[in-house]
Amino acid sequence: MEMMRSSLILSTIEALQARLKGSAFIPGDTGYEQASQPWNLNFNHRPTVVVMAKNTRDIVEAIRFAGLNDLGVAIQATGHGVSLAADNAVLINTSQMQDIRVDAITQTAWVEAGVKWGSVLEQTQKFGLAPLLGSSTDVGAVGYTLGGGMGWLARKFGLSADNVNFFEMVTADGHVVHASQEENSELFWALCGGGGSFGVVTGMEIKLYPVTTVYAGNLMYPIQSAKEVFVHYREWIANAPDELTSSIVIMNFPPFPQVPDFLRGQSFAIVRGCFAGPVEEGEKLLQWWRQWQAPIVDDFKGMPFSMSGMISNEPNDPMPGQVSSIWLRELSDEMLDVMIRYAAAPSPLTVVEIRHAGGAIARVKAGTNAYGNRDASYILETVGITPTPEASDVCHKYVKEFKQALQPYSTGGVYINFLEGAEKWEQTKLAFSPETYQRLRVLKAKYDANNRFRFSFNIPAAVNDATQMSLENRTKPSSN
Ligand SMILES: Cc1cc2nc3c(=O)[nH]c(=O)nc-3n(C[C@H](O)[C@H](O)[C@H](O)COP(=O)(O)OP(=O)(O)OC[C@H]3O[C@@H](n4cnc5c(N)ncnc54)[C@H](O)[C@@H]3O)c2cc1C
Repeated sequence: MEMMRSSLILSTIEALQARLKGSAFIPGDTGYEQASQPWNLNFNHRPTVVVMAKNTRDIVEAIRFAGLNDLGVAIQATGHGVSLAADNAVLINTSQMQDIRVDAITQTAWVEAGVKWGSVLEQTQKFGLAPLLGSSTDVGAVGYTLGGGMGWLARKFGLSADNVNFFEMVTADGHVVHASQEENSELFWALCGGGGSFGVVTGMEIKLYPVTTVYAGNLMYPIQSAKEVFVHYREWIANAPDELTSSIVIMNFPPFPQVPDFLRGQSFAIVRGCFAGPVEEGEKLLQWWRQWQAPIVDDFKGMPFSMSGMISNEPNDPMPGQVSSIWLRELSDEMLDVMIRYAAAPSPLTVVEIRHAGGAIARVKAGTNAYGNRDASYILETVGITPTPEASDVCHKYVKEFKQALQPYSTGGVYINFLEGAEKWEQTKLAFSPETYQRLRVLKAKYDANNRFRFSFNIPAAVNDATQMSLENRTKPSSN
């Protein structure tokens, strides 16, 4: 039966290839590995077919092919945010869809599915405009936005998902639809923060903001001062203006030769931030720190926003990593003690960061779109470098224990963009209010009742109980 199935696929793959502007690869083809490999080397997709899509038409063909062969459909722009391994699936790789069109008059940009934030930043800064990108310029704009998208301008201008004018999407039955406030508004509501499971977004039009210079950087203090630094930070942000989006970080620099001498193998308590207002005001804000205790490193300065990727300085090269997160209600003394205890070396974690949310994110009324947990103020993210299965295992267990210890201070919600792997799939529900999750399930039934897009957020279609059980059985996560 299995053999018949593979020969069936082989016979139709040639027909698929003939209809594509891009390419289709099956296991064994040159190009298959490269097209399937996510940025995060901890994951390894083994799709039945991978389609390097060049345009919307290619995506339509790939989805129809999946339908004919009863395969799932997974999507990859960069592989920064993998949920489930794309096995028994057509993996649509959008990385060659690179169109960006900036309209300086309306302050908007059309961004195609495969575009990374770095390219959008480069194109928009030419006009003195900025997109609402995140801390890494290497992340895909569409994938980031579908999960919410919280970056250095978030407290001032909100989430990326709150700043989309419209999406173009290919549905499970291969139709191209537009979603905006006016057209398919329920789908638009879902894609803004609850997306990724309803179809393949081919591109989106986003709002841009006039930001050219920011006052941004890092203050690095000895790890021994972590508690006083973080308590001081709590006071700093208590009345901080929305122009300031900031975070506190415990960083354990790995003992790698490429790390500068004075950082290699060392741990630091870091205050990181970006002030999107006049440079002089940013400088004034920093006096709070400079008059307090001299940090080991102080690189806060006025900088072009085009350099904003330097603030967090995250790696662009593919790496094996494990990310997790938890929303916190407070930065109480007790919570900070837990953070420091688990984050500072010896710890299998390289980075533990708490980002300050609120501001413009919280000013949007809950339920305006699918994005949940708007009222939560602090998102704690953990990052471990996990080059071996043993390291992954150690990190996984450690983070589980760490998050357990943080439970008393947590809102109970999750931020879907800062989860990955099976955890992202298992905890999807916690990213939304119960009403929103149910509404997403109803929409899923309308757009993808057979759960073809099952490798993203776990949103089972709202159906009767018997159908529900059979759907759940066929969508259990496979381990990677
Ligand atoms: C180094 C690093 C820094 C980050 N910084 C931030 C940050 O500052 N703020 C923040 O909010 N998040 C951040 N993230 C998280 C990131 O936004 C998510 O992981 C996001 O899902 C990545 O999208 P991608 O397209 O790059 O990755 P991919 O792995 O290619 O895609 C992730 C998922 O997005 C969905 N998707 C992607 N493209 C499409 C499409 N065209 N149509 C439908 N679904 C699609 C799919 O479900 C896919 O599985 C960061 C992640 C990393 C690794």
